[in-house]
Amino acid sequence: MKYDYLIVGAGLFGATFAYEAKKKGKKCLVIDRRDHIAGNVYTKEQSGINVHVYGAHIFHTSNKTVWDYVNQFAEFNNYINSPVAVYKDELYNLPFNMNTFSKMWNIRTPQEAKDIIAKQIADLHITEPKNLEEQALSLVGTDVYEKLIKGYTQKQWGRPCTELPAFIIRRLPLRFIYDNNYFNDRYQGIPMGGYTKIVEKMLDGVDVRLNEDFFDVKKSGKLSDGTEVSYDKILFTGQIDEYYESKFGPLEYRSVRFETEELQVENYQGNAVVNYTEYEVPYTRIIEHKHFEFGNQPTTIISREYSSEWKPGVEPYYPVNNEKNNALYQQYADLAAKEENVIFGGRLGQYKYYDMDKVIEAALACVEEQL
Ligand SMILES: Cc1cc2nc3c(=O)[nH]c(=O)nc-3n(C[C@H](O)[C@H](O)[C@H](O)COP(=O)(O)OP(=O)(O)OC[C@H]3O[C@@H](n4cnc5c(N)ncnc54)[C@H](O)[C@@H]3O)c2cc1C
Repeated sequence: MKYDYLIVGAGLFGATFAYEAKKKGKKCLVIDRRDHIAGNVYTKEQSGINVHVYGAHIFHTSNKTVWDYVNQFAEFNNYINSPVAVYKDELYNLPFNMNTFSKMWNIRTPQEAKDIIAKQIADLHITEPKNLEEQALSLVGTDVYEKLIKGYTQKQWGRPCTELPAFIIRRLPLRFIYDNNYFNDRYQGIPMGGYTKIVEKMLDGVDVRLNEDFFDVKKSGKLSDGTEVSYDKILFTGQIDEYYESKFGPLEYRSVRFETEELQVENYQGNAVVNYTEYEVPYTRIIEHKHFEFGNQPTTIISREYSSEWKPGVEPYYPVNNEKNNALYQQYADLAAKEENVIFGGRLGQYKYYDMDKVIEAALACVEEQL
């Protein structure tokens, strides 16, 4: 079989590229080493509930072009992400807004909240934050930091905040209105019926082969059933360091482990996302999947999320964009720039945290440039 493009990875980047390339008359083969399409936005139906298998995914964007683009593949509901934080026996609304402050200090007006925060910041006398703790304290004061940021961040990164660099937190938006909408974007929602259906539609009419590892295909020139394949160009959305056999050393990631279970109750926590902000609770969040689609099924499915260390063989989730890794990535990116027939894209190919809208935007730009 002869193809114009071999697309490695059936996630949003690969699928968007494949959809557009097909429209332009290009013949594409999409392969993925997993046994399903959709990459990390994969949702799987269980007991009538769409489970976000690789973590909660909420679509949000201010880019109307991208919003219109995804809406051709699915109808989105009017879900608004409004997480709740649990700290010991206290419960707070997120993001940090007047509901949070009013509960924390038993106050009512924005001025009261601003005064308390300003006083806490002034009392600390931090002029040049030396680490993440000092940076966060100098932005939000003691109470918000101690109750809602400290333990959660320590769990996320597996290190005390005093040992984390200040740049991880550049800004911590504080909202002095009563508004629990986590995102500021113009458009937001969850595709009714799950994300997998979006990718299914994108890949309709495109050759897709699952359980195929690129490195095996490249070496043998064949798919696992023996079909010979050739291609003019490769779009690679896997790990860029893996592509180059980690010749400069491996890039670092953070990983996440999910413990998912079905409970014989109708409604477990009353909200899709509940963050556990104290360090002593080992997980960072509990996701109750049915609430993303306002489900009224008789049972419910929850996932506890544990942030974990990444090592080869474990699913890489978040790039660790510190100086060392960025410099290492640049070495790989320099090699990539010299490739004539290989394009690198997506969160792993570009070693970059990408929200879904940004990944679609980047894939559309890539198609534009290529075709
Ligand atoms: C926990 C978590 C929560 C998130 N929540 C949100 C959210 O709420 N909102 C939002 O907008 N974004 C969210 N994101 C970001 C979103 O997941 C990404 O934008 C999107 O998944 C990136 O798509 P991609 O195609 O680049 O990568 P992926 O979806 O990872 O696709 C890459 C694919 O390549 C395959 N692959 C890799 N190497 C090989 C190989 N050698 N051979 C064959 N196949 C290979 C992989 O199996 C994978 O399926 C979240 C991310 C994480 C980690």
